[in-house]
Amino acid sequence: MLRPNNPEWRQIPWDRALAAASPSVASALEKSLAGSELGFEEGMTLATVEGNDLVALTKVADELRRRVVGDRITYVVNRNLNFTNVCIVGCAFCGFSRGPDSPDAYFHSTDALLAKSVEAVERGATEVCIQGGLPKDLNGYYYVELLRAIKARLPELHVHAYSPMEITYGVEKTHLPLSDYLLMLKDAGLNSIPGTAAEILDDSVRRSLSPNKLKVRQWIDVIRTAHALGIPSTSTMMYGHTESPEHWVKHMLLLREIQKETHGFTEFVPLGFIHSQTKLFQIGGARAGHSPHEDLIVHALARVLLHGYIPNIQVSWVKLGYEQSLACLEAGANDFGGTLMEESISKAAGANFGEYVSPGEFRALIRTIGRIPAERSTTYKIRKVFENPDAEEVMPSGPMPIFGTPTTHTPVTSTGY
Ligand code: SF4
Repeated sequence: MLRPNNPEWRQIPWDRALAAASPSVASALEKSLAGSELGFEEGMTLATVEGNDLVALTKVADELRRRVVGDRITYVVNRNLNFTNVCIVGCAFCGFSRGPDSPDAYFHSTDALLAKSVEAVERGATEVCIQGGLPKDLNGYYYVELLRAIKARLPELHVHAYSPMEITYGVEKTHLPLSDYLLMLKDAGLNSIPGTAAEILDDSVRRSLSPNKLKVRQWIDVIRTAHALGIPSTSTMMYGHTESPEHWVKHMLLLREIQKETHGFTEFVPLGFIHSQTKLFQIGGARAGHSPHEDLIVHALARVLLHGYIPNIQVSWVKLGYEQSLACLEAGANDFGGTLMEESISKAAGANFGEYVSPGEFRALIRTIGRIPAERSTTYKIRKVFENPDAEEVMPSGPMPIFGTPTTHTPVTSTGY
């Protein structure tokens, strides 16, 4: 089967691919190209494509991407700060969390996190992304105190922090109303929040993944309240575990409805489930992670279903690896995410990727598919376009997995982050 990130695939014009699609797939894609919203049934038609229909979906998604955001592939220079891996929630899909007495449990001090933030800025980062586990005895004001410490030293640094789960935990700990808690975080310097902890926004799926996690209604409340207060967020979906295509479609349509109301999502980030070190997989409760076929469908489907509302579709290179990231960037996605510098969560859980990709490596990778690299801010303001290669552009020396051989690069476990 022809796939993106393949010279032969690249030669096929989108309209020729569309002409070879089955009538129902062609009809849905034509409607999207004409600027109309697709509904659930059309989403389901696209979520289950194979063969020529998959080529048509990815080609049309790539064309929609070109029309909306052009040929640039953006990335942000950032650093992940995972302040603790101690967590009481017990999500069955998580390979990151540890009990407080575990020999590899950690809780970094504020001074250490501050030092990492300073180092990140010195290395060109414009953002730190802060998330962590939920320890039992966490002070509900910890999140705000950490923000204040970072902002006092680095007022210009964009702080992208705290999932809806963490914010809900802070609200529970402090007994403050949600809006007051978020406003306190904003006043302390919170610039945006990760739309993680979404997994699949369906309570029956969530019960099987993590009965202790926040419910769909709570996730939506945090996001809508944050957006109303002028705090933007990303949006995410974890796929490749117990869910079915129906859940992908419903999840994306729900995000689209929220975005119509709030306009607060900066991007959508599909997160492939990395299975092997998770309880969920080990007890036979989930399939063996995301497949290359699912990766393509999910990224292309997101481009089509969110068309007109969420302009940026991001690949998670930590979950996908380089080759599959590039394939998805030719199937509707337009953003490479962050350089990360440190990404403990997927790495600790067993992923083959997840330390650091330098900006030069990102640009070299982007150049291999004939697109133009551009560094962006967290909120997608373009900081610099790299029309021509420079001396810093070098291909990563680490593993460059070959597309279609999942043993070399399919990540092996995942959290919802
Ligand atoms: S996914 Fe997050 S909330 Fe769930 S167990 Fe892991 S660290 Fe805790």
